[in-house]
Amino acid sequence: MSDKIKMPNPIVEMDGDEMTRIMWKMIKDILLLPYIELNTDYYDLGLVHRNETLDQVTIDAAEATKKHGVAVKCATITPNADRVKEYNLSKMWKSPNGTIRAILDGTVFRTPIVVKGITPFIPTWEKPITIARHAYGDIYKNSEMTVEADCKAELVVTDKNGNETRQLIHEFTSPGIIQGVHNIDKSIASFARTCFNYALDVKKDIWFASKDTISKKYDHRFKDIFNEIYANEYKDKFEAAGIEYFYTLIDDAVARVVRSKGGYIWACKNYDGDVMSDMVATSFGSLGLMSSVLVSPDGVYEYEAAHGTVQRHYYKYLKGETTSSNSVATIFAWTGALRKRGELDNVQDLISFADKLEKATIQTIEDGIMTGDLIPLSSLENKQKADTETFLIEINNRLQKLL
Ligand code: NAP
Ligand code: MG
Repeated sequence: MSDKIKMPNPIVEMDGDEMTRIMWKMIKDILLLPYIELNTDYYDLGLVHRNETLDQVTIDAAEATKKHGVAVKCATITPNADRVKEYNLSKMWKSPNGTIRAILDGTVFRTPIVVKGITPFIPTWEKPITIARHAYGDIYKNSEMTVEADCKAELVVTDKNGNETRQLIHEFTSPGIIQGVHNIDKSIASFARTCFNYALDVKKDIWFASKDTISKKYDHRFKDIFNEIYANEYKDKFEAAGIEYFYTLIDDAVARVVRSKGGYIWACKNYDGDVMSDMVATSFGSLGLMSSVLVSPDGVYEYEAAHGTVQRHYYKYLKGETTSSNSVATIFAWTGALRKRGELDNVQDLISFADKLEKATIQTIEDGIMTGDLIPLSSLENKQKADTETFLIEINNRLQKLL
């Protein structure tokens, strides 16, 4: 390879914290810079720089993502009280992912990376299951109270002229609890469109489920909005792409998912997504093999690994000890972003490079060379534990043969 691949337009690069920041640089040095004239709009979202810029850098990175359409993000620390002390922060800055998601109004799609030798706990799952979680409302924005005996609880809605509509929740004869939850048509519609667009983009079927038989107004609204948008805007496109949308009850969906071979997107209401994404992720094996992409309703993509900054490994690294941290999900964040950039700009070499880098990464693990987290999961006989850097060098050896 003499000529490096050129990128006519940049991707937004968001650097991060701790062990993932170390891996970020290694991935660039070993697997990307030798082959690509990387064109990135760089933002340092490391906690030190977020603190220096009073978190403006996070907002700037999100705005740049809107402009360029594609971003890749390293894992970042979400500060808590310990971190405020550790980094001497002027404020407990908010989660960067939360800030970026709010600006892009996006939905997160999480997909496991499937490799031979690591069998899911549900062994019939041959292909990945992608979970899309609605990120607004329901019990995450609830209002709840405890209720004493001999009280009447009602729902009250007051319109702008002060007229009240009331509905009985329960007449309490003994103490109990109540909860008020809400959602917004616009947010549900934007979730539905993002899901349908993403399904078309990756050419996979999409399932959505709720409990509309019991919740005849609330959950039914979700079902109706999905069905209407599908029928009016997507049915023809789905038929042309040979993919399917189907709605079912949440309990039926769970049963079907467990019996399935995988290979589809499962769109979930907020709580269902919280619970089911942990179920699916655990079943597929390792956090180090879970990729993630935030997609906005207008088609902006931000790729990242689903795991955090792998703090414990970072402190070992700082002490000069050998680490064996899994870079696969972060590599796939880069390949996702590079492939998307290639598709948008019609740069075939970039798409093909992304495919080959993914292939080389999977080949390395399937050849038995893997990081420590995967050793207990792999059923291969000849497996060897590689340190953080050696694993990347082994991937590069295979990549060179593919290029
Ligand atoms: P974590 O970094 O995902 O790590 C949890 C544990 O999972 C690690 O200690 C490690 O286990 C294992 N692990 C995760 N990723 C791994 C990898 N790539 N290779 C090998 N092992 C891996 O989560 P956390 O410890 O809860 O959070 C650490 C920091 O990350 C926090 O400051 C949090 O705010 C941040 N965070 C950021 C994001 C994001 O930016 N998207 C997401 C989650 C958390 P062992 O230590 O047992 O080896
Ligand atoms: Mg959860």
